[in-house]
Amino acid sequence: MATTAPQRLAFIGLGNMGGPMALNLHKAGHRVTAFDLSPTACEHWSTQGLSMAASAVAAVNDADVVISMLPASRHVEALYLGSGSTLEDKGGLLQALTPGMLLIDCSTIAPASSRRVAEAAAQRGITMIDAPVSGGTAGAAAGTLTFMIGGAPETLERARPLLECMGANLFHAGAVGAGQVAKICNNMLLGIMMIGTSEALALGAANGLDPAVLSEIMRRSSGGNWALEKYNPWPGVMANVPASREYSGGFGTDLMLKDLGLALESALATGAPTTLGSVARNLYALHSGAGQGALDFSSIVQQVMKS
Ligand code: NAD
Repeated sequence: MATTAPQRLAFIGLGNMGGPMALNLHKAGHRVTAFDLSPTACEHWSTQGLSMAASAVAAVNDADVVISMLPASRHVEALYLGSGSTLEDKGGLLQALTPGMLLIDCSTIAPASSRRVAEAAAQRGITMIDAPVSGGTAGAAAGTLTFMIGGAPETLERARPLLECMGANLFHAGAVGAGQVAKICNNMLLGIMMIGTSEALALGAANGLDPAVLSEIMRRSSGGNWALEKYNPWPGVMANVPASREYSGGFGTDLMLKDLGLALESALATGAPTTLGSVARNLYALHSGAGQGALDFSSIVQQVMKS
């Protein structure tokens, strides 16, 4: 884990990803003050050693850097720009930040949302990068995430020591919003690949093959992929993955649905062809509509077997 001069950090959003990420910053010696809207999350992470603030505004008091890890565009825009309905509604959290601060948003959101927040931040003398991640909850806990970063190179250099406490790979994708574009492309591929892997396993099982044996054959053959290596969707094949704990934790189906929606919005805006992305989005939407939105996205294997 990287070591660096201790900084005063505010960390907003302690979900499946944000909690372990904040804890890694704390363990690296930074002074982390955290906040989540969920009292359960606050209670859990305070027992792990994180200091909690009573609100996002209180968390940023005295901070040099603000890091956020929230579900979707609307949460990030409401937090920083204001939604008219919460504590931060009088112009959003940006009003409570002072010039010279650094803002790192690690949520996966629309590139246009990242740019909107960055522009509003810049008007207040605050620099921002979008730094969405890949690597799942295991990568968040191990501090081995991949960061896809959009923003000025010098802002990335300022953020680097902090990002290195949470991740093993840092990629500069381009200007603000470019990290989100990279993440959306990656997750569209991941969503499609998980369906393809599920379909192949279901076909093998229907023809009498043991899914564990088939998984190993494909993993070492030309069908080998990340799902087969690290995130097998078939229950009982792999230990310590959501499929082995009834699809709890992990990366929610509704979050995958959100990311495929972002991919399709970007495709519409640019005319890029995303035929399989559209099909994948429809399948995750069916799965979510059947009440499985909170389950890990690898539970799509259940929908595949129904289709
Ligand atoms: P999550 O739903 O587990 O956690 C989100 C947290 O944000 C919740 O605890 C919620 O209470 C909190 N929150 C929402 N609005 C808030 C606000 N205004 N102030 C404070 N807290 C607020 O989601 P997650 O799985 O941690 O994912 C977070 C982001 O990371 C998403 O954009 C997701 O797409 C992305 N992501 C997730 C994974 C994964 O494997 N889970 C992997 C890569 C990227």
